[in-house]
Amino acid sequence: MDLEYSQEYKDFQQEVRAFTKTHGHKSPKGSAVARPNAQVREWQALLIEHGYTARTIPKQYGGYGGEADILKNVIIAEELNRAGLNRGISNQGVTMLIPTLLEIGSEVQRQQWIKPTLYGEVMWCQGYSEPSAGSDLAALRTSGTEDGDDFLINGHKIWTSSAHVADMMFILVRTEPDAPKHHGISYMLLPMDTPGIEIQPLVSMTGVAEFNEVFFTDVRLKQDKIVGKRGEGWQVANTTLKHERGMLGDPDRTARQLQGLIDCLKTESVGGRPLMDFPVYRDRVLRIQARVKAMQYNSMRVLTCNLKEQDAGVARLIVKLNATILNNEICETAIDLLGETGALFGDSDYVRRNGMWQYAYMYSLGLIIGGGTSQIQKNIIAERGLGLPREPKPKL
Ligand SMILES: Cc1cc2nc3c(=O)[nH]c(=O)nc-3n(C[C@H](O)[C@H](O)[C@H](O)COP(=O)(O)OP(=O)(O)OC[C@H]3O[C@@H](n4cnc5c(N)ncnc54)[C@H](O)[C@@H]3O)c2cc1C
Repeated sequence: MDLEYSQEYKDFQQEVRAFTKTHGHKSPKGSAVARPNAQVREWQALLIEHGYTARTIPKQYGGYGGEADILKNVIIAEELNRAGLNRGISNQGVTMLIPTLLEIGSEVQRQQWIKPTLYGEVMWCQGYSEPSAGSDLAALRTSGTEDGDDFLINGHKIWTSSAHVADMMFILVRTEPDAPKHHGISYMLLPMDTPGIEIQPLVSMTGVAEFNEVFFTDVRLKQDKIVGKRGEGWQVANTTLKHERGMLGDPDRTARQLQGLIDCLKTESVGGRPLMDFPVYRDRVLRIQARVKAMQYNSMRVLTCNLKEQDAGVARLIVKLNATILNNEICETAIDLLGETGALFGDSDYVRRNGMWQYAYMYSLGLIIGGGTSQIQKNIIAERGLGLPREPKPKL
């Protein structure tokens, strides 16, 4: 099998490589959780202009408007990763809401929200989970009762990432309280500065307050802010979840982490010899490398099916489970490779890369839970992918 790129793709590779050399110095560094600053927004605009992000989003919504091309996507990721450059904004608005609006949103909603979200001017958070509705999301109780042209929203969301910096929330609200559990939910677009919203930070095990509790007291929202149809938000929510799980399973992020691991083999040493000299360490990293390759090819298979408008089946359903576990194992391996310095946290002269691996390890544990836990992913794979019997429901 010839895995070489054809001339067309080699030319494209040269084009992207030239871009990284000319513009690489403009790439922002640092956390993706923060609100996009001017540098992040300028870099995003540059990437869109060249078609290196938002490649297939139509021009009228601010995207590049190109044809879907899996190999070009791979080349863009490879070249930006190789040069250590930022891949563009990948917050919840860009990765989860925009594709949902493209699939289900009204023309008015697409015109209003896609471009400012894409360019980092509007930041979103996801209002799904509640204290009694996590894995069993359809048990959500936050209510929307009709009041003239408005809904009055009352309730309580939890684990809401980035709510403290977000302008908008895509929120699930029960608008038909008498309907069966999976019906009667509406998916709404809510400005975070609406009176009646109170945000309280929650510190995760990374030590940073990345998510929040959000309380709603008589929060007024116009009824035309619903995405899809009233009472049919469960389908919209699942469309967003599909994109969330795809985003959490991004093979490029895992490939970048693998590269960091390989760098550890070269830079860390035992008895004056680099870890790379020891078969025991090389072997561990090679095993991970094989799994990363498998993940990258699986992703290409899923993308190919998407382009042909076919369901990738199990190949799609395994993505989130596989990626989040693998990301966690990569971080765990890096911490092992760092030896005693791997146990350091916070300020220390000896901590490597500002404690990046320790932070990434803690963060990766959270992502095994967020977007649907591993146990729930296994249920989905078993029931929807393999056709096994549904798990018994407790009799209430
Ligand atoms: C880092 C992070 C970011 C998050 N960001 C957001 C966000 O932005 N917006 C948002 O709305 N939510 C967010 N969440 C919440 C996340 O979606 C929920 O934590 C998740 O769905 C699990 O729900 P839960 O915490 O209520 O746990 P529970 O549902 O109470 O689950 C507890 C345990 O029971 C297991 N379990 C539950 N049901 C079953 C079953 N049927 N079969 C087998 N095992 C089961 C679970 O796997 C888990 O181990 C985030 C969570 C994390 C960790």
